Amino acid sequence: MAKIKMTTPLVEMDGDEMTRILWQMIKDELLLPYIDLKTEYYDLGLEYRNETNDQVTVDSAEATKKYGVAVKCATITPNAARMTEYDLKEMWKSPNGTIRAALDGTVFRTPIQVKGIDPCVKNWTAPITLARHAYGDVYKNTEIKVPGKGKAELVFTAEDGTEIRETIHEFDGPGILQGIHNTDKSIASFARACFGYALDIKQDLWFATKDTISKKYDHNFKDIFQEIYDKEYKEKFEAAGIEYFYTLIDDAVARVMKAEGGFIWACKNYDGDVMSDMVSSACGSLAMMTSVLVSPSGVYEYEAAHGTVQRHYYKHLKGEETSTNSVATIFAWTGALRKRGELDGIKELQEFADKLEKATLKTIEDGKMTKDLALITSLENVTVLNSQDFIKAIRETMETL
Ligand code: NAP
Ligand code: MG
Repeated sequence: MAKIKMTTPLVEMDGDEMTRILWQMIKDELLLPYIDLKTEYYDLGLEYRNETNDQVTVDSAEATKKYGVAVKCATITPNAARMTEYDLKEMWKSPNGTIRAALDGTVFRTPIQVKGIDPCVKNWTAPITLARHAYGDVYKNTEIKVPGKGKAELVFTAEDGTEIRETIHEFDGPGILQGIHNTDKSIASFARACFGYALDIKQDLWFATKDTISKKYDHNFKDIFQEIYDKEYKEKFEAAGIEYFYTLIDDAVARVMKAEGGFIWACKNYDGDVMSDMVSSACGSLAMMTSVLVSPSGVYEYEAAHGTVQRHYYKHLKGEETSTNSVATIFAWTGALRKRGELDGIKELQEFADKLEKATLKTIEDGKMTKDLALITSLENVTVLNSQDFIKAIRETMETL
């Protein structure tokens, strides 16, 4: 059979550790035999990021803006331990943070539901899509470790030199300080992305902050959402029979646990980071969660929601067998290929993406899965496969479809 041709390259962002190993296996086993894969390759592995002073991350984000669709492997966000492990010149920022900031987009994450892996929250009969604001707050912070006694102030200097000054704290001794920000423009893009996506998939949109405590910062999010909703989306929502619902973050968490699912939950950056891990874990495994960053200009970056699976990688390096779940990384590729197919009008590419997803889910439903799923499945007589054999089993299933 002739391989499927592509016209525009996908921006391919390679990554680190176990997911880098899976990345190559997925390409070799599930993509390259079927597609004349056209990608513009960026190596976001930590070694090359360090070598290029992180320029490669910036370049990959620019390429994503240029071509419109990217697929990204999980990457290490350096911490103190990684500084030594990789002999880093600097504690480079999170690549995801850099890319999200460059695209000013919103991340939508939806659990991948499959028969036999039931959410541990019994009432979640439909997936909850998490929309995470992808700019600012603690991810763009400035921090000071306060050495001792002194006064901390928050100062804004306008272009004309006028100042707004607030005392943060009079320190008696050592402590810590953190400056965070957001912009009305980014919050508005976030709001529009959420309202637009809700209309697209015809689901209610929930949004929550802590505006009772954060009377200016969080309240600004609430006000911008409400204003944009009233002006631009209210009528469309009513016509579509869907709802926009605002509440406090702690109330939202309580309601989510009692809900049936089937809605979009919009969260500020940090809430989205934490809550998406909660929702994905409750739905089985971190490896069963799709993730896409959508910019207001319609640029898409697909990835897995989990990290580089460091623990499995160290086993792999020792020559031990691993059973690492590649589903989310496969779905990152299918998401990107389908979107590329849509944008370029290549039907075969869209159909291939559907088929690969179907084969992946069918393989699990047939009882062939990785260890993380085998531990939680309600299916009986399952076969636990290693990382490589699971991917091979998907290929075998695909050949039968
Ligand atoms: P992680 O890679 O998500 O893995 C945490 C644990 O979750 C694993 O040890 C494993 O549990 C389980 N797990 C996650 N993905 C799995 C998969 N595909 N198959 C099977 N089990 C899976 O998080 P981490 O170990 O805390 O972080 C490792 C590195 O990833 C860090 O350097 C961090 O900076 C980075 N990270 C990157 C991204 C990203 O690029 N999007 C996101 C998060 C973290 P068991 O060990 O119990 O099997
Ligand atoms: Mg996270």
